[in-house]
Amino acid sequence: MNFHSMSVDQLRDTQADLKKRYDELAALGLKLDLTRGKPAPEQLDLSNALLSLPGDEYRDGKGTDTRNYGGLNGLPELREVFGELLAVDPANLIAFGNSSLELMHDLTVFGLLHGTADSDEPWGRQKIKFLCPSPGYDRHFAITESFGIEMIPVPMLPDGPDVRLCAELVANDPSIKGLWAVPTYSNPTGVTFSEAVTRGLLEMPAAPDFRIYWDNAYAVHTLVEAPPTPLRVLEMAAEAGHPNRVYVLGSTSKITFAGGGVAFFGSSDENLAWFSKYLGLKTIGPDKVNQLRHLKFFGDADGVRAHMARHREILAPKFKLVLDILEDRLVESKVASWSEPEGGYFISLDVVDGAARRTIELAKEAGIALTGAGSAFPYKTDPHDRNIRLAPTFPNTDDLRAAMDGVATCVLLASAETLLAERS
Ligand code: PMP
Repeated sequence: MNFHSMSVDQLRDTQADLKKRYDELAALGLKLDLTRGKPAPEQLDLSNALLSLPGDEYRDGKGTDTRNYGGLNGLPELREVFGELLAVDPANLIAFGNSSLELMHDLTVFGLLHGTADSDEPWGRQKIKFLCPSPGYDRHFAITESFGIEMIPVPMLPDGPDVRLCAELVANDPSIKGLWAVPTYSNPTGVTFSEAVTRGLLEMPAAPDFRIYWDNAYAVHTLVEAPPTPLRVLEMAAEAGHPNRVYVLGSTSKITFAGGGVAFFGSSDENLAWFSKYLGLKTIGPDKVNQLRHLKFFGDADGVRAHMARHREILAPKFKLVLDILEDRLVESKVASWSEPEGGYFISLDVVDGAARRTIELAKEAGIALTGAGSAFPYKTDPHDRNIRLAPTFPNTDDLRAAMDGVATCVLLASAETLLAERS
């Protein structure tokens, strides 16, 4: 029954029943974890051939000895493969280390220390701000928070960030220098930015050194037949008159090995020259042996697509299981709504306002770890205390079923408590 149309007495009885069910859950002594979007061991197994690559071969197609120093931009053939998948001209794409987050951190640090290619002075000498579409990726927000960059939350809508609000904010405030974006199967909402929203973000008048961190972490991570065609965002930015606005990022972390993949950075010639100048001071070059391993493993972009279809076979049933449990346990009570993503690594669950923190606390006491309350918002502050990020990829099916059934009980109990408290 719909909790919102219950009388106080009905709600009280419901709460008492749920408390019993919760106590039974807590007595099970579970130890389950739905916190981080990590690939499951079977997904990692899909790439085990990498462990014996590149074999005795250590030269790429151009004859480069990958064992040696050099080649700051990474192997050209691997940049071709991922240039196609990220919709970036390979000439404008760098293949680097194992983490795109590291590249985003570097881009920010270089901006703070030296200013971007279009800054009059280093970002660090000014009081600067970033727009943060929310719910968003907690580790993005952690980077900006760690440097004291003020974060301005912007609502995430079904087709991307609220672009009208973004445009209004940047037009009136030249100290806004950045925007965090996950354009495909966004973390955690699953939203894919529409072409119209993207155009709006690229065209809007802003400070000359305003940058969009276009973190296309889930470009090929589809749960349906095929992912959306990636937008050629660098060309679109140039057409919009802002060729240096976009930093494109991506990696194979959730394609091959999360800890041993290859990360990519794409941008304009000018931005790449700026970035390489500082990157070349911190390293003589990336791990080209790992890049060659990846190249041999995939062959071409179709090799990556075929590999992602194997991930999908593992992941789609897990997402379906979570959605089925949410539907089965929560739909009638009308205390929650959730995303039904076509890709990516997360399901975003919204409970009644004021009940997320309590849900997470109840789950924790019952041995089910959920991502911390407010994690998907700047400063970990969910203004409505309603969002919970679910990460269904890592646990096996039995654990996932047990965890989600438990989460549903916690959602119901926390919602009944919250609604009762509001009425009394
Ligand atoms: N961006 C997003 C949106 C992510 O969800 C993740 C992983 N959770 C990353 C970046 C991290 O990528 P990498 O392993 O390449 O640092």
